[in-house]
Amino acid sequence: MKIVMIGAGYVGLVSGACLADFGHDVICVDKDAGKIADLEANRMPIYEPGLAQLVKSNVETGRLSFSLDLPAAVADADAIFIAVGTPSRRGDGHADLSYVFAATREIGAALTGPTVVVTKSTVPVGTGDQVERILRDVAPDIEAAVVSNPEFLREGAAIGDFKRPDRIVIGTTDERARAVMRAIYRPLYLNEAPLLFTARRTAELIKYAANAFLATKITFINEIADLCEQVDADVKDVARGIGLDNRIGPKFLHAGPGFGGSCFPKDTLALLKTAEDHESPMRIVEAVVQVNEQRKRAMGRKVIQAAGGDVRGKRIGVLGLTFKPNTDDMRDAPALAIVQTLLDGGAEVRAFDPEGMEAARPMLPDVTLVGDPYAAAEGADALVIVTEWDLFRALDLKRVARLMALPILVDLRNIYPPEEALAAGFSYTSVGRSAVS
Ligand code: NAD
Repeated sequence: MKIVMIGAGYVGLVSGACLADFGHDVICVDKDAGKIADLEANRMPIYEPGLAQLVKSNVETGRLSFSLDLPAAVADADAIFIAVGTPSRRGDGHADLSYVFAATREIGAALTGPTVVVTKSTVPVGTGDQVERILRDVAPDIEAAVVSNPEFLREGAAIGDFKRPDRIVIGTTDERARAVMRAIYRPLYLNEAPLLFTARRTAELIKYAANAFLATKITFINEIADLCEQVDADVKDVARGIGLDNRIGPKFLHAGPGFGGSCFPKDTLALLKTAEDHESPMRIVEAVVQVNEQRKRAMGRKVIQAAGGDVRGKRIGVLGLTFKPNTDDMRDAPALAIVQTLLDGGAEVRAFDPEGMEAARPMLPDVTLVGDPYAAAEGADALVIVTEWDLFRALDLKRVARLMALPILVDLRNIYPPEEALAAGFSYTSVGRSAVS
């Protein structure tokens, strides 16, 4: 199969490299010349575990290549995946589809024969119809089936997720397109990853429903955590107690500073806009968005509280800036709101993140970025763990406490047992568990 991936970002690059690894011929196209130059020199434009090796080995076999030249790449492709960004449209929260439509126009203008155009980007219900319309306008004589194939991979575990998915959703009723998609995913199908064929609009909605459900689960346990703090209960035990029920399941029940990242915030907002447009209100998701939005700054205030109620002139160390571990992605990271709250309160903030500092630098110009966790602790009046990188799980807590001006630890990911922090001399605050000192 000759496959073209439009957009070599977190999704396009991982998907392209994995499809090449399955044995397909893949060209990843991007508009960003710097990104393509990096990839051609085997420098990864993003941090994703295992990606550099996967790209390198598939480039060496000749199955994976990179290009700026969209028309040349798509001309004789069996399938063209659109994996460009769909951020929130400035001002209203609708998904911004301008990149998707621009790519579609470019594809349409370059087609020479029948093909399958696959939207892998997360797009609102009905976008496939619009993509189809654009292709018909631009290339009226070409047979191009439009398929929705939403992506469910998680940054930080993207390759494993793409290669061993819980399911593959393929939205189209066109038999020829279904056959092409079956052939593309055959290696996974052999591994028994269920291929779920649906109508296109259904597939588009599945992606939003999945993300909204997961965002709801996180927000639910976060509110339970707040209640735990009021009634002297332990949210980790509550999560375990409910998660062992198969109907609930243990995943996405970790209380923390609220969800962030490049998907949940924008996708929940876009789903609400779709619901609004169709006069079919989604009150639960509305509450989730609202509760989560308030939570991020509330976590900043929690740090201020733990530091004695006032951080003016105080130094606060921050461990972890990315929205989750094992990525360099800073989009909508809770750290942004938390740090801003601390800065607004007059604190001096010194932060460390294993992979996210380059992306964080322009977003947090008033924060001093330091070289390791201990440097973040040095002279600090409080230290806050925002992202649960493995590196922060086994810190020499006694050394950390000694380095600090005041041994106050705020663990927004509950990665330390309270007694351990206490034994190291800390006054310790976490999420959904009583503070100890
Ligand atoms: P990204 O911003 O990392 O990558 C998008 C890439 O598309 C950029 O490199 C950009 O330069 C390129 N691009 C834009 N217009 C182009 C054009 N006309 N031609 C060629 N290249 C073009 O975005 P991402 O995180 O990979 O997300 C892509 C889509 O996948 C979004 O819809 C997102 O919601 C969805 N998604 C993301 C994730 C995730 O974890 N990041 C998971 C599942 C789904």
